[in-house]
Amino acid sequence: MDLPKHAYFQGKIVPYADAKVGVATHALNYGTAVFAGMRGYWNKEQERLFVFRPGDHFRRFLNSARLLCMDFDHTPESLTQVLLGLLQADGYRQDIYIRPLAYKADEVVGVRLHDLRDEITMFAMPFGQYVKNATNAHVTVSSWRRIDDNVIPARGKISGAYANSALIKTDASRSGFDEALVLNQDGHISEGSAMNIFMVRDGVLITPPITENILEGITRRTVMELASNELSLVVVERPIDRTEVYVCDELFMTGTAAEVTVVTKVDHRPVGEGRMGPVGEKLRKLFDDVVRNRVPKYAHWNTAV
Ligand code: PMP
Repeated sequence: MDLPKHAYFQGKIVPYADAKVGVATHALNYGTAVFAGMRGYWNKEQERLFVFRPGDHFRRFLNSARLLCMDFDHTPESLTQVLLGLLQADGYRQDIYIRPLAYKADEVVGVRLHDLRDEITMFAMPFGQYVKNATNAHVTVSSWRRIDDNVIPARGKISGAYANSALIKTDASRSGFDEALVLNQDGHISEGSAMNIFMVRDGVLITPPITENILEGITRRTVMELASNELSLVVVERPIDRTEVYVCDELFMTGTAAEVTVVTKVDHRPVGEGRMGPVGEKLRKLFDDVVRNRVPKYAHWNTAV
């Protein structure tokens, strides 16, 4: 993977090699950081880079920071300006991934959230497809459970909580699967290691509600809106039982990295007819057109660099 060119670090844009923290940094020792992940898409025809829904990503980022008692003067708008400055310095002419990170920066020992200095950093790097088999993924039901709201809130993108995602992803990958479905403490399907889940049953698009220990995904929200407006599908938020994915018609996962990844097998059982279905196929195409700024109706979701 290519390294970032620059970073926003301690209030300035600096060469990436100069953005360094000490090994005693609180966030590195205790996972006391929160992050965001967004994508920039290169539009060949317009020769421009577009960032997808930065305001929404920064709003969730600042909410995640609140969960860890971080207090910043920034707004989603001011963070978007910082990002645009960074991307202008970088000058990428390709698809990229953007990582804002807010972290407990003091170099001290002691587990807590209060009385610590908070810092924000940001960097971007070239990025392509995240899940290899994006039109025919084979997933497993993980033996790990999703973190609970009263353990570490899943609605925040909290760095320490991603040890849960990493356990899930590594065991799935080492067993030969592309991804995993993760059950919450109630035994319902919450989401994937770093993506939300949707199933189609009898023509209805179903996804777990935000109270099922999921991240409140921005791609999830996007897909719900596109499915309702453009595919005239009824979209329902309700808990999903484990065995429903064995009998549903279509299954797919959504996320900034995963985009719309179609799942065609769960633990060796075919989903529907065992190949990409019509809803997944249409949403994949529509999503790609929207994020590359080819659909004027949704151009307000894209910020040009
Ligand atoms: N769930 C988890 C645990 C994630 O890390 C992500 C990726 N940010 C998602 C879902 C998808 O969220 P989004 O569409 O906002 O990227």
